[in-house]
Amino acid sequence: MSTIDQYAVFGHPINHSKSPRIHTLFAEQTQQQLVYTAQDVPAESFDNAISIFFAQGGKGLNCTVPLKELAWQRADTLSERAKFSKAVNTLVLQKDGNLFGDNTDGIGLVTDLTINHNISLENKRILILGAGGASRGIIGPIMQKSPTHIVIANRTVEKAITLSQEFSQLGNITGCSYDEIKNSEFDIILNATSASLTGELPPLSSNLLANNGTCYDLAYSNDPTAFVKWGMDNGAAKSLDGLGMLIEQAAEAFFIWRDVRPETKDIIALLNSERN
Ligand code: NDP
Repeated sequence: MSTIDQYAVFGHPINHSKSPRIHTLFAEQTQQQLVYTAQDVPAESFDNAISIFFAQGGKGLNCTVPLKELAWQRADTLSERAKFSKAVNTLVLQKDGNLFGDNTDGIGLVTDLTINHNISLENKRILILGAGGASRGIIGPIMQKSPTHIVIANRTVEKAITLSQEFSQLGNITGCSYDEIKNSEFDIILNATSASLTGELPPLSSNLLANNGTCYDLAYSNDPTAFVKWGMDNGAAKSLDGLGMLIEQAAEAFFIWRDVRPETKDIIALLNSERN
């Protein structure tokens, strides 16, 4: 068993993950001794891989696609935000041997929008595209910032409706099809579909974005994603991708594990410079 604290991200596929780089930069910056690796773990191997990882001295784990719901099921205790989201991206081994599960995706997005980009969510009309795991993770933290309302639009409309019902006690939220929003207007549009990963776009009408509005794609890539381009073409004051969210959710996980909060500004600038 290694004496240096072990952390990892599990996912499938995982070879392009930026998380080992980000956490290594955090560790250097905060002078923490740790190792962070990426492991390719398909869903069917998750239970076994997690048992081995923690038996061999693992301290904390990130889980990404397609493992967040399995991690939620596997956690012994959950944060409030993870309970609601039914998805866990951060696990920590506690002193009593229990696994605590949290979801830092939502706070990562909100920090990137509100702090890094100075975009307030208060009294804003917010459209979320997609009703998968990422949407589940971000709705609660967005609601805490008091938007006027949230509309979730999804290709499979039933999923959008179910999701909106699960969060309805937190505020004004509805779920619908893309067709139903075609005459609506929003201040902020968040793309939480995985369409950008294949260069696709959900069916969006050109009048959806209000003057001075913001577009934000949770996906990120070296070149502008299809949705970032759509935002630019449709008059967005800012059209952003999810690299900042990725780094901010990682910072929150690092804080949960190490009780030290890394500075993200320089690391966002560094990773941004590497893709220019
Ligand atoms: P899921 O697989 O859970 O959900 C995917 C969603 O995208 C579903 O709602 C699906 O609709 C929709 N979708 C997929 N393809 C299309 C398409 N061509 N047109 C319209 N809708 C489509 O994925 P996640 O929620 O886990 O992830 C979503 C995105 O968020 C990914 O790009 C991921 O990389 C990103 N992400 C980024 C993070 C960051 O830190 N920056 C953190 C977490 C996620 P349907 O239900 O009809 O199938």
